[in-house]
Amino acid sequence: MTTLRSGAATHVGRVRANNQDSALTNDETQLYGVADGMGGHKGGEVASAMAVALATEHSAERNLDGLKHAARVANRAIFEKSGSDPELHGMGTTLVALQLIQGPEGDEIAWINVGDSRVYLMRDDELRQLSHDHSLVEDLVRDGRITAEEAKVHPQRNILTRALGIDLDVDVDGASLLPLAGDRFLLCSDGLFNEVSLDQMSAVLRRLVDPDEAAAELVRLANEGGGRDNITVVLVDVIDDDGRSAAIAEAQAAAVAAAEARAAAERAEAEAAARQAALAEQEADDDPNTVTIEPEPAVAFADRRSSLPESHDDYAAEGKDLYADLDRVRAKRVTWRLVAFAAALLIVIGVVVGAMYVSQSGTYHVEVEGQRVTIYRGQAGGFLGIQPTRETDLDFTFDDIPAEFRDGVDGKEFTSLGEALNWAMRIQDYIDATSTTTTTSTTTTSTTSTTSTTSTTVATTAVPPTTAVPGAPVPTVPATTPPG
Ligand code: MN
Repeated sequence: MTTLRSGAATHVGRVRANNQDSALTNDETQLYGVADGMGGHKGGEVASAMAVALATEHSAERNLDGLKHAARVANRAIFEKSGSDPELHGMGTTLVALQLIQGPEGDEIAWINVGDSRVYLMRDDELRQLSHDHSLVEDLVRDGRITAEEAKVHPQRNILTRALGIDLDVDVDGASLLPLAGDRFLLCSDGLFNEVSLDQMSAVLRRLVDPDEAAAELVRLANEGGGRDNITVVLVDVIDDDGRSAAIAEAQAAAVAAAEARAAAERAEAEAAARQAALAEQEADDDPNTVTIEPEPAVAFADRRSSLPESHDDYAAEGKDLYADLDRVRAKRVTWRLVAFAAALLIVIGVVVGAMYVSQSGTYHVEVEGQRVTIYRGQAGGFLGIQPTRETDLDFTFDDIPAEFRDGVDGKEFTSLGEALNWAMRIQDYIDATSTTTTTSTTTTSTTSTTSTTSTTVATTAVPPTTAVPGAPVPTVPATTPPG
């Protein structure tokens, strides 16, 4: 059984008149979400509340497709209500949600996203954004026209390229991954990450174990940073994971321990040999009869011996021993040099193996198994007995990938999970763009707040989708202007 624990906090902020965000924490269905509504006097509140209610109602299937379907049902309902009620005209909302689902290999966490609310995962002490914003500034950042820091304060940062309730149908991003004990999923509206840096968020998530306390502290920091928008935070902690993370850690620790034990044994052997050699040398130096170890010719001993009276057997005997010692000491000196060389060689091997191990743990690659496309952590085929671990299944099948990009997908390598996910999202965008021929509309409805707390303006802008796969021709997708 995978066990989750959640916490949440939401706040109107310091500028807006009302809170149009909605938070969802349902420990019974293990469904969690954040929706950030927009549009009109009260449309935003209605839209975000509808999104979380309908997501709850339609996610009983407990799989990724079911969750995506729930988001599309919510989209349709909000779109229709917006069209039928003049007071709610033009309303829309973002939605991020995650749910514990039953996958082929046991419990998985599925997440979905439409808009610019975010899903982050804190794992191995690193906070990573799993979702991909559907916003104008995100496209500008991706195209290298502005930096991530500039995006936070860009005047058009509220403009979305995708939202629920704007069109008859909507594309929903999503993926699933295997949860590990210690994982911390953070769902939040843009009121958090536009005011609080990634480092600040990480620090809070590391410091405060209780999810309610951590959520409240993040909201407090967002208000401290300006509180220019509504702020909503939902935290979901993985408390127990069926011993999966323990098994992975054990296997990794065993492999590392075995390598360390081998290295230590070799080191001890080399040290013992070096000590023995040094001792022998020391003994030889202490012996007054061996002062002539260096190049004094053996004949000198022979001379000295021959000058002794024949009858002096003791001297003669000693002289013989001296020859034997001399050879032994010379042999040991050679041995000691060999040992020193071997020790140096071992150090070099250790450094190389260590570097390879570090590079392995920071490597990700894609595997295609039948139709399933999966990102694995580690090198294909494993390394030093450490097998790659499954990170996340991608949302598209192998056949979904446009034929011209299929070559090299299986085994494709990345240096970080972010890079791999970014690659997957670009493929997904390309699939979305090429599969939709007539109705790819990217609409944008957003409330832009001015210095006054009450005045809001609704801006509607059509933004052509930016769908570029590196090295690939950019598909031509007609950008249509949304209906009034
Ligand atoms: Mn917002």
